[in-house]
Amino acid sequence: MKMDKKVAIITGSGRGIGRGIAIELAQAGWLIVINDIGNPDPPAETLSLVQAAGSDGHVVLADITVGTDRQRIVDEALQRFGRIDLLVNNAGIGPRVRKDILEVEEDSLHEVMNVNLIGPFFLTQCVARVMLEQIKEKVIEDPKIINIGSISAFTSSTSRPEYCLSKAGVAMSTLLYADRLANEGINVYEIRPGIIETPMTAVVKDKYDRLIDQGITPIKRWGQPQDIGKAVAAIASGFFPYSTGQVINVDGGFHIQRL
Ligand code: NAD
Repeated sequence: MKMDKKVAIITGSGRGIGRGIAIELAQAGWLIVINDIGNPDPPAETLSLVQAAGSDGHVVLADITVGTDRQRIVDEALQRFGRIDLLVNNAGIGPRVRKDILEVEEDSLHEVMNVNLIGPFFLTQCVARVMLEQIKEKVIEDPKIINIGSISAFTSSTSRPEYCLSKAGVAMSTLLYADRLANEGINVYEIRPGIIETPMTAVVKDKYDRLIDQGITPIKRWGQPQDIGKAVAAIASGFFPYSTGQVINVDGGFHIQRL
């Protein structure tokens, strides 16, 4: 079924930042393809929240590290809504166990790279091809791709080098796709969150409470999923037509070097 409303695919939107993005986009009238893995309850809850925000969505349980699953996300988006206007590569993980860089094992690096960098790289490839077709067929106009990166792209954490390496890779992936797709009418952006209150950071809450209290972020509070959602909605609204490959820091000013 083809719909007139714009359609966004958001990976890992069963909870956390992805859910925050889904709600903000739903409030702005977007239809949401909610992707996650494992337990179907969290993405179902995101769908209820999207509907409560006045829009609609579709859940695809799929692992972004698996090629056939990535294809299924795209196929189901098209079957259900007939178009793809926005891809938000949000799904991400940290290492299962934090180990010092001198102890990190190969499997852990591969796992984190697969979820945070390689899966999103190939999902972007898959979605970009569809977007190019749909631009040609005049089904969509100015589609966009947004990668959710991290301050870890430039901040060393020697107890989770897997994560830092993967997010540094995401930064280059943004630049590569931005360069390749600029003249095709697809802008690509990176949103770079700081310390955001989600299930991912719940395990290190005390540490970050302390750091925030000590002023590690000039804006002295935890970031919230809706802070990222608002930045995505701002880009999705189309007010940055002459910007691509752009990093938008949503980090309370963490990136500012201070003396
Ligand atoms: P989260 O763990 O709360 O949510 C991530 C979601 O991704 C989960 O629902 C998980 O099931 C899903 N997911 C994991 N692997 C997947 C896979 N293979 N296929 C599909 N879905 C998968 O994390 P979050 O804090 O909401 O983080 C979202 C994104 O923001 C991640 O890319 C993360 O690296 C990034 N980020 C988070 C913070 C933070 O402070 N929370 C800071 C910077 C960047």
